[in-house]
Amino acid sequence: MSAGDEVVVALDVGGTGMKCALVRPDGTTVHTERHATDAQRGPEAVVGTILDVAEGLAGKARADGRTPVACGIAVPGVVDEARGVAVWSANVGFRDVPLRELAGTRLGLPAALGHDVRAGGLAEARLGAGRDAGHVLFVAIGTGIAAAHVVDGSAATGAHGAAGEIGHILVRPGGPRCGCGRAGCLEAVSSASAIGRRYAELSGVPTTAAQVAGRAAAGEPLAVEVWQEAVEALADGLATGQALYDVSTVVLGGGLAQAGPRLFDPLRLALRERLTFHREPRLVAAGLGDEAGCLGAALLALDTLAKESR
Ligand SMILES: [Zn+2]
Repeated sequence: MSAGDEVVVALDVGGTGMKCALVRPDGTTVHTERHATDAQRGPEAVVGTILDVAEGLAGKARADGRTPVACGIAVPGVVDEARGVAVWSANVGFRDVPLRELAGTRLGLPAALGHDVRAGGLAEARLGAGRDAGHVLFVAIGTGIAAAHVVDGSAATGAHGAAGEIGHILVRPGGPRCGCGRAGCLEAVSSASAIGRRYAELSGVPTTAAQVAGRAAAGEPLAVEVWQEAVEALADGLATGQALYDVSTVVLGGGLAQAGPRLFDPLRLALRERLTFHREPRLVAAGLGDEAGCLGAALLALDTLAKESR
């Protein structure tokens, strides 16, 4: 059988759904599936579904005449990638689940476990908008804000599996309360949900961040004010990121990045104003959409194989 028939099994597990794929070593996807996570069933049931889905994908590969060679799984929360343990997750309920070992045993294949945003960052840095950039900061802005710092195709995990939580950089002391309990974190001001919430608070009308972006572009004063507040805080966070990481490219993903030039144009200016001696990074939109996490899980699986063959 030729090497072209080899695939890895990849899963990106979120609070509501799992994006799954069979991916070739060159990064091309040959099959995709989506499944419900149903996190309210509890972590044991979710783990059962993950293993069943992974086994099903390996079976599908074989049925199509391909050879599954490894499995990669990305999950949210705190992930100890070195030990392969899902340490903690608010939305899936994991507490110290040795998911890498469980998947490896069930499938009889080498397995890798990664953090969803770090996996997404890895994919954007190696296959997407940060391709060939070397030093990349991937920032996902949706209901929260999280980041991955990728250097030469490898995402830093931190000593405790919690690197990249730039959503909890303090940007507005005494500001809006964050989900983590502190007031004034970046994600309490600049996440898509925070922008919608702030506008709703001031106008009394339920609103999404996309609607605020549209109204701001149309010149509605309240929307302009809320949007600008969020952009300024985001620029503060990114300037801190640049001071720490000195990257060449910042890739913005998640729902908010879909605002396009309405976000990128003022953000670029605000970031430029804040940088003194640091070099200004290229600011670009993510290129892989919501497939990034799953592709990243595939890359982690391939990296595991490469390490084993050394
Ligand atoms: Zn916080």
